[in-house]
Amino acid sequence: MSAQPTCLYCQQAHPVDATECRQCGMPLPAEAAMASERRLRRFTWFCVGLTLFCIVMFFWLPRNIA
Ligand SMILES: [Zn+2]
Repeated sequence: MSAQPTCLYCQQAHPVDATECRQCGMPLPAEAAMASERRLRRFTWFCVGLTLFCIVMFFWLPRNIA
């Protein structure tokens, strides 16, 4: 699951360390790739937090079993 920078002009995918397009020479949107990676990390932490919240609630809330 690696975010490869894709050229905005010719849609050519590049290795992560590339700074400009090999096909048309335009600078690659490194910032956009980094932003999507940050969003993915935030989503992962959101899922972890939600799981922890559910576990805490499971033990904290009273169980009304007859
Ligand atoms: Zn290009």
